[in-house]
Amino acid sequence: MNTTVNPGLLGRLNLRRVLEVLQQHGPQSRADVMRRSGVSAPTVSKAVDSLLKSGLLEEGEAAGAALGRPARVLRLASKSVRVLGLVLDARICSLVSSGLDGTFEERDARTFPTPGSYRRLIDRAARCASELMVGSGAQTLGVGISMPGLIDRRSGEGVLSPNLHVTDGRAPGRDLAAKLGVECVVRQESHALCLAEGLWGAAKGLSDFAMLDASTGLGLGVMSGGRLLEGAAGFAGELGHLTIDPKGRTCGCGNNGCLETVATDSALSRLVSERLRRTLDIDGVIRLFRSGKVHAQDTLDQRVDYLAIAAAAVINVFNPSTLLVHARLFEAQDGLFAQLLDRLARRALRPSLADCRILQARASKRQGALAGIVHHLMESTAPRLAWPQ
Ligand SMILES: [Zn+2]
Repeated sequence: MNTTVNPGLLGRLNLRRVLEVLQQHGPQSRADVMRRSGVSAPTVSKAVDSLLKSGLLEEGEAAGAALGRPARVLRLASKSVRVLGLVLDARICSLVSSGLDGTFEERDARTFPTPGSYRRLIDRAARCASELMVGSGAQTLGVGISMPGLIDRRSGEGVLSPNLHVTDGRAPGRDLAAKLGVECVVRQESHALCLAEGLWGAAKGLSDFAMLDASTGLGLGVMSGGRLLEGAAGFAGELGHLTIDPKGRTCGCGNNGCLETVATDSALSRLVSERLRRTLDIDGVIRLFRSGKVHAQDTLDQRVDYLAIAAAAVINVFNPSTLLVHARLFEAQDGLFAQLLDRLARRALRPSLADCRILQARASKRQGALAGIVHHLMESTAPRLAWPQ
């Protein structure tokens, strides 16, 4: 047995522990970091100094500190440094700026209709990013990009994006980095959402969970033993392109009757639009349902049923402790999420379902984009190490 301890690895483990404590419990004193991390005072001090130097942590006064000598707290850097999150999506792209804690002001977000050409997409995104970078007055550590479709994680290139074909064969991370002069990291949108839920959402601190995204497309992010399952090239999680109706509608991937053509917010929007003979997005569809101005209960019920089939597949295949479902269509009517749970009881294997907590996801795609860069910065500084279970 090899009992040699590599001091480099040990040091990284300590950095990681300090980051995780601050990530999970928020700003706190050095004494609290030491207590929660279970690491000795000199070791915590060394790790904290190193993280302060790297720019990932900052020291400041506690919020709401009483009069007298203000308490000093450590926190993930949010004033001295910023990160940007860019969401590339089928219709609307958006960009936000945050600290490493992932919080951002909605009013500062930039949005623009997705341009029809790749060059215009990159130019527009770069222009918005430059404005946010200059406006923040802080150092920008990098940009996280949330993108739909298959992305080759080795090259950062989009390979096939059924809902955003302009990125096929393109590397927006590389092209934006060349324009902005900061690191830009692309993440598949469902993987990005999964990271966001783990950092800031309903799965905070969990190491085994799955995130099913049924908004524009249908994709899956799975965290297993604290690691995101990406597959050999980064293409894992494309549950949406499983055939559910061989004679169904042609999907953006070229196949027929894919799950994402029937089980998503966009499927609901399309079907209601066809029924009413006018184009509606999911916001418009939700408004119509809530105001009782559309009678399409069967259309809504079928979406929930297909979504239950997708969720059952995730539960049966991956046995997650928690499954988060990201979809807007639940807002169309009260009780739809309960309806999903009810249908899942029939669709999923009972022991696997009994082991799984099912919740509505909290994180947005913007948080997903931010999580992509925050996770990257943390992994670059203090990678999570794989230990035998
Ligand atoms: Zn497909």
